[in-house]
Amino acid sequence: MMTDRLGRIGLSRMFAGAAAQIRQHHAWLSELDSVAGDGDHGTAMLRCVEKMEKAVAGGPDTCLRTCFEQTAWAVFDADGGASSSLLGTFFLGMRDGVSANLGSLDCQELSMAFASGLRAIRKQTPAQTGDKTMMDALIPAVETFSAAAQECQDIEDSLERAAQAAQAGAEATKNLIARHGRARLLGEKTRGHPDPGATSIALLFQGFCEGLRGAKGEAGHA
Ligand code: ADP
Ligand code: MG
Repeated sequence: MMTDRLGRIGLSRMFAGAAAQIRQHHAWLSELDSVAGDGDHGTAMLRCVEKMEKAVAGGPDTCLRTCFEQTAWAVFDADGGASSSLLGTFFLGMRDGVSANLGSLDCQELSMAFASGLRAIRKQTPAQTGDKTMMDALIPAVETFSAAAQECQDIEDSLERAAQAAQAGAEATKNLIARHGRARLLGEKTRGHPDPGATSIALLFQGFCEGLRGAKGEAGHA
């Protein structure tokens, strides 16, 4: 079945799926961060996904722009680390990519929101593909979502392709050397392990996909 519109309930299911993925893998994320950073990435991400879930879980407000804004501020508030600040910026950028008073988004509108999130995060970090950061997963995820959205207009299908791209991007960081964040100080020592932030982004998109797939209500509208 096709999902052609995403409302607050669909978004809350996507976030619940993301939270489930992070809860399942947080110890691994901290382990990766202890190779290349300060070992707190799993707990930082646990706090982020908890905030994401709560930000969209209830209340009468179904305006998607408000949902992304509330998510952004909640994620900024979650943790003082690099990843929560970058992720909060991503959601604030998503807010900017959504028109006011929309109760749901079609695939193209969601793709524009993701693209706006990516633009915002790119203003905050100079990290490019190949620098071994979360951008190695996020850039291909957003670009793949856009391309898929053009082609199939199906949110679930596009998320699935985006999740695969994020996963490939995260895996590819294994052979790279970190150039940003705390990990840059370790240089060559970071080779051989995937970047924790890129791994998290892959888990988030995987969770978005699973959360939505498991959440089919009325036909075509999650
Ligand atoms: P901190 O480094 O503050 O402890 P986390 O451990 O939560 O934050 O997150 C580390 C992850 O954040 C890294 O694996 C990387 O993906 C991402 N990151 C850190 N600094 C940057 C940066 N300048 N640009 C892009 N991503 C970054
Ligand atoms: Mg850390």
